[in-house]
Amino acid sequence: MTAETAQRGRLGIFGGTFDPIHIGHLRAVTEVAEELELAQVLFMPCHHPPHPKDVQASAAHRLEMVRRAVADNPRFGVSDLEVRRPGKSYAVDSLAEFSRLYPGRPLYWLIGADAFFALHQWYQPRRLFDLADFVVMTRPGSPGRDLREYLTHYLDPAFAPADNAWVRLPNGHGAKLLTTTLLDISSTDIRRRAAQGRALTYLVPPEVEDYICEMKLYTTPEGED
Ligand code: ATP
Ligand code: MG
Repeated sequence: MTAETAQRGRLGIFGGTFDPIHIGHLRAVTEVAEELELAQVLFMPCHHPPHPKDVQASAAHRLEMVRRAVADNPRFGVSDLEVRRPGKSYAVDSLAEFSRLYPGRPLYWLIGADAFFALHQWYQPRRLFDLADFVVMTRPGSPGRDLREYLTHYLDPAFAPADNAWVRLPNGHGAKLLTTTLLDISSTDIRRRAAQGRALTYLVPPEVEDYICEMKLYTTPEGED
């Protein structure tokens, strides 16, 4: 892939807290990028998650871990857009910014099934579908719910079945479930292991494990400092 096609092709955006990034994230996104022929995927750590959630490492550390994790993959990049923006990180604001930065470029928001089925609690969820398509990745333990049933119930009754198992609005934007390899890995479990001084090998890339050790991240159990 040339730099030029990377500038033009389909752009994936993968938002998360990434506290820390792990192999579950990287493998699922690899499979989505392959399946949907995404030219590039930008991993975007949030600054302050909009919903109450325990975030342990600073935004700067989480961003640096993502940088190190994707450094050797030419298809993957990092966006510091939310980390730089003060206040809560709303996906709708980020997508509006991406469509200004990359006019005419199709945007795909990548999301795990657990997070997707909470979309109705996000800020202005219906507006997200004026800006991007949503690619939902399977995750162990996440609801096996029907996308269309969920979207028509909570967001807009106009979501309808379309080609290639997409569910779309009349404006052309929609969502699709992709069955990615089920890896039962979570950042919560990784933070717990780190706090117990246990190895993180094969759960996170070696660069990330080294960084966590070097910076002494997650050394205290959650909720304690
Ligand atoms: P935490 O346990 O702190 O919530 P997490 O492992 O869920 O961490 P997040 O940063 O919350 O990671 O997730 C970012 C995105 O990645 C979300 O859309 C989430 O659904 C997805 N995701 C996380 N882990 C996996 C996994 N193992 N397989 C598929 N998707 C995942
Ligand atoms: Mg999560």
